[in-house]
Amino acid sequence: MTQTLCHKPRRDDTSGKRGLLTIYCGCMFAGKTTALIKAIEPVDKRRVVVFKPAMDTRYATDAIVSHGGRAMPAQAVTQALQMIELVGADCDVVGLDEAHFFDAALSTVIELLVGRGMDVLATSLDRDSWGRPFPLVERLIASADNTSRLYATCAKCDQQADRTQRLTPVINGAMVGGAESYEPRCETCWQPPPESPPSVK
Ligand SMILES: [Zn+2]
Repeated sequence: MTQTLCHKPRRDDTSGKRGLLTIYCGCMFAGKTTALIKAIEPVDKRRVVVFKPAMDTRYATDAIVSHGGRAMPAQAVTQALQMIELVGADCDVVGLDEAHFFDAALSTVIELLVGRGMDVLATSLDRDSWGRPFPLVERLIASADNTSRLYATCAKCDQQADRTQRLTPVINGAMVGGAESYEPRCETCWQPPPESPPSVK
């Protein structure tokens, strides 16, 4: 779908030691995971490690999988800090799916990895089901070298969609779900869920 690319200048071009942070953001079904897999697939597998939040078990526990079925092996982690231990010595490209599900330490972890010269590529929702931006993701986008904003097609009117519509009741704050619980909507067709939103992190 329509894609806007924003490239910031590399922050430390002279040392060559600093990596680049790329964020693929947007609503659900916008092709974020597909874009991440497409960017990482050509890289030598020994140089890459891919992480996903352990709570995201929608399609697989040991892979990231796009809604279209494209997959890539990944390690599931429960806390952002675990990634520092799991990044191998040969690794210089780190992929990360569903960054919005991680804890607030993620921005510090990414800064550390980029500071070690690793390129970090991450996907993330930019708004929750209530249309609120994720503060964690806003911080990541502010420090990103490249931001790619992806859009879906509104399930109601076929216009460009930048919102995620919750279709089923929110029970105990559980938000992980797929096409049975969500669909992309434009701002006009989108409505927040009736349940009270959880506090932002
Ligand atoms: Zn619409």
